[in-house]
Amino acid sequence: MTAQDTLVDTSAAATTLVAYQFRDDADVIDFARQHVGDQHPAFAQATLLQVEEIGDGNINYVYRVCTPDHSASVIVKQGLPWVRIIGESWPLSLVRVRIEAETLAFEAECAADLVPALYHFDDARSAIVMEDIGDHRNLRHAFIDREPLPMLGQHMGRFLAATLYRSSDLALDAHDKKVRIARFINPDQCKITEDLFFFDPFCDHERNSINPALRPDAEALWSDQQLKVEVAELKLRFLSAPEALLHGDLHAGSIFVRDDSTKIIDPEFAFFGPAGFDIGSWMAGLWLAACAHTELEAGANNAYIEQLCAHATTSWETFSALYHAQALTTDDASFAAAGVAERCLQRMLSDAIGYAGCELVRRTLGLAHVLELESIEDGEVRARAERRALALGRELILDRHTLTNMAAIDVVIRRHLAS
Ligand code: ADP
Ligand code: MG
Repeated sequence: MTAQDTLVDTSAAATTLVAYQFRDDADVIDFARQHVGDQHPAFAQATLLQVEEIGDGNINYVYRVCTPDHSASVIVKQGLPWVRIIGESWPLSLVRVRIEAETLAFEAECAADLVPALYHFDDARSAIVMEDIGDHRNLRHAFIDREPLPMLGQHMGRFLAATLYRSSDLALDAHDKKVRIARFINPDQCKITEDLFFFDPFCDHERNSINPALRPDAEALWSDQQLKVEVAELKLRFLSAPEALLHGDLHAGSIFVRDDSTKIIDPEFAFFGPAGFDIGSWMAGLWLAACAHTELEAGANNAYIEQLCAHATTSWETFSALYHAQALTTDDASFAAAGVAERCLQRMLSDAIGYAGCELVRRTLGLAHVLELESIEDGEVRARAERRALALGRELILDRHTLTNMAAIDVVIRRHLAS
């Protein structure tokens, strides 16, 4: 997640050992060797291996097992029955590790080039072995450095179209779909989202982290009753609309990039929910970065802000074209009727805009913020960028049913970014 992202006190990390936990580097190396095999011959044949702990997320342990010259490597990720940086006072079901592994496998069926390859999942040790995508950078850093990333919008649109269509009722047999919904029930992870995404930021909650200069804006938002009703409706859909298998935590910290390649990691929040949730989470990530760039070296970044807005439009256009083309191939006669695909896309867009609005608000007022905004050191200057995110978020939530196409949405985004 995102409980992971930033601004969480790490002083109380757990010290208790769990029986299945990796004891030392040799244990991690043995585990990796045992489970990689001919999926990565260069790694399997390496005589000398070393381990680096590289996890910068908050929830799990992530190790890179590699040759000393880094010519061959794999990643081992292990979950303990609690949040790593908090400890036993925040228990978290281990079902998340199996769900992450099974989601990675499903995503690879949909778009193998856009996720790390899964080599192995071990239930007894709550651990995953996967491809090392260390030749990619975290998208948050790429955003701060204003990397153009020409393929980003197309890649994300394709990822969303493939995963959200192929796990939907249009693509799956109705029986199979219900079995899958059950397999991906993920209550502990969903509860984190239900609280941190839909509840805390809309009230004066102790978990919130608010720039003092933004306090009056937060208080105004908390007294907005109409907004609370709309957020409640979005939360109800999140709880009760198992449309598709979501990644569930599609923020920029879960996306790694090169100029020519994009990799999406960390689907431990996956569950069957409203498809617009992933689309909106992703687009809000672009708009949060755009808000940050209105104040990061103010004025110098207009061209990059344009690119970020264009990524959102390209993502949606790619997504909707690919989703539409797939929807026309449905085997279910009810869904083959003319106009069904369009209706689905319309609903996904209005949901996406609503969830994007929630993401903009919660990354401004909630527990976990984004690096792009946090990297603005002066609180007053940061507040100007955060105020744009907050006002944009509010408008998207309230107007999601009348903003029925990407061009209209783009006008709203640009008005706030220029405010
Ligand atoms: P958590 O579940 O704790 O949030 P993540 O899956 O986000 O953990 O991983 C934490 C960090 O570990 C990532 O930000 C990235 O730097 C690194 N990482 C995770 N998976 C891989 C991978 N397959 N290849 C390279 N680095 C990875
Ligand atoms: Mg993470």
